Amino acid sequence: MRRIVVVGASMGGLRAAEQLRAAGFTGQLTVVGDEPYRPYNRPPLSKEVLASEVTHAAVAFRMRSSVEDVDWRLGMPVVSSDLAARWLTLLDGSTLAYDGLVVATGLRPRRLPLPGLEDRRHVVRTLDDATRLRASLAPGVRVVVIGAGFVGCEVAATARRLGAEVTVVCAAAEPLMTPLGPDLGAELRRRHEAEGVRFLLGRTVTAFSTGISSRTAADVVLSDGSAVAADVIIEAVGSTPCVSWLDGNGLDLSDGVLCDADLRVEGRPDIVAVGDVARFPNVRYDDVCRRVEHWSIPTDTARKAARTLLGVDAPPFVPLPSFWSDQYDMRIQSFGVPGLGADDIRVLEGDMTSECAVGYHRDGELVGVVLLGLASAIPRYRKLLMDATPASV
Ligand SMILES: Cc1cc2nc3c(=O)[nH]c(=O)nc-3n(C[C@H](O)[C@H](O)[C@H](O)COP(=O)(O)OP(=O)(O)OC[C@H]3O[C@@H](n4cnc5c(N)ncnc54)[C@H](O)[C@@H]3O)c2cc1C
Repeated sequence: MRRIVVVGASMGGLRAAEQLRAAGFTGQLTVVGDEPYRPYNRPPLSKEVLASEVTHAAVAFRMRSSVEDVDWRLGMPVVSSDLAARWLTLLDGSTLAYDGLVVATGLRPRRLPLPGLEDRRHVVRTLDDATRLRASLAPGVRVVVIGAGFVGCEVAATARRLGAEVTVVCAAAEPLMTPLGPDLGAELRRRHEAEGVRFLLGRTVTAFSTGISSRTAADVVLSDGSAVAADVIIEAVGSTPCVSWLDGNGLDLSDGVLCDADLRVEGRPDIVAVGDVARFPNVRYDDVCRRVEHWSIPTDTARKAARTLLGVDAPPFVPLPSFWSDQYDMRIQSFGVPGLGADDIRVLEGDMTSECAVGYHRDGELVGVVLLGLASAIPRYRKLLMDATPASV
């Protein structure tokens, strides 16, 4: 293999480049990214960096010497591909041939398909998104966050810390209901409310309009007919995999890129996928292919995918997904796949109103643990979960 092209210049793309070098690849390595920046870390964009100063320097990943000779093509998306001919077409019309390809194009935020108030509406995925949002957050500004997943809750907490008046609108009965379940969701809501956040639950947004709540206000109109005045609107309603550049090649792109257990894109020995965009089976749980939108996954997948592409032996790929979230002074740490055990949730230790460990069970077996605080217990619960879901399931 003489030339490998990595598409996507974020964490997954960077880790793939590092791992290709670590696994012995000495050929030409090109990384193409549509953002104009070298790879940077996204989690601080909804947390500490959003609360202070948003700069590339504050979030940039360290460049290891192993990737010093990478040919970075930044600010230039790949718009189409011919996988049979092994070439890519970039937005400027130029083409790029490869012998091996790494798909690392991650996700983009979903937007509500409703017109209006475009100048007030924000998403939080990129450095540019966070820079624009930061410029509009200030004490007293009325912020409406739509969606109460991790990003929505983190941005709500950060905006509150900056003195904004924050309302969270969400269709579910509690925030973070899908990943964590109703009881932990209710406890997190109580903690947000104690910080001054208002929740409007069980409601969806039906329109963006002006002049409903008062003659001058810009409003988010809700499914119960009410209207919430908003200076800043943050859409945190999930993400969509960036795969349109792979259209027309017969791949299963129904939810990211379908891969086998070695992260090879199905039916393509010369293509692997890493990070948020990869949909793969994890026999630690079952043989269902899933995408995992966690910070640990770009690193885990890159290690395996690089070896698959180069034909280098590596242990079976059975990652233990892990995720953290910081909201106010609270650290939420998750291991495994709590969503698989949402019907059988038990407090394993402590008390939800202070610090606790919550276990998620499928058919009586532990498949996920979420810790609220209890930092010193993290290694213990990680091991418990590793032992409960042996890699040979
Ligand atoms: C605001 C925020 C907060 C987060 N907080 C946490 C957290 O607290 N804990 C946690 O575990 N995880 C968190 N995450 C998730 C974590 O950041 C992601 O799992 C991780 O960034 C995934 O990396 P990736 O490289 O797979 O994808 P991405 O980071 O999405 O990178 C994909 C890159 O590919 C580029 N691209 C897309 N299409 C093309 C194309 N056609 N051509 C060229 N380039 C393209 C994109 O612009 C992007 O730069 C957070 C994510 C966000 C957005």
